[in-house]
Amino acid sequence: MTDTDCIFCKIVAGDIPSTRVLETERVLAFRDLYPKAPTHVLVIPKDHYANAAEVAAADPGLTGEIVAAAGEVAAAEGVADSGWRLIANSGPHSGQDVFHVHFHVLGGKPLGPMVS
Ligand code: C5P
Repeated sequence: MTDTDCIFCKIVAGDIPSTRVLETERVLAFRDLYPKAPTHVLVIPKDHYANAAEVAAADPGLTGEIVAAAGEVAAAEGVADSGWRLIANSGPHSGQDVFHVHFHVLGGKPLGPMVS
């Protein structure tokens, strides 16, 4: 499932470069181009889904693979013990910019309140 206009589908295909940190058959994790914390990695399904609710409804197993991959990324980044945050924005009020579901793995410093 690919959307030809989707920037993250192009990253999955390798048509746009990214710094990959983890890859499985169905999941890709790569560094955010504009990091908001010392660790800022995006974890996505390779197939195109617009948001977390959509992928969870279509394929709960894949959603579990994404969350498991996020945990592996946190461990590999050395933030598993200090703490990290997993965020999936969805829709206008959340500030979602890219409509291919992505989970932000954030850590490496105290992250402060979740909503300001
Ligand atoms: O949750 P939201 O949709 O706002 O997040 C999109 C994220 O994708 C941003 O953090 C942005 O820096 C990142 N991005 C990226 N590489 C791109 C385009 C966007 O890492 N080529």
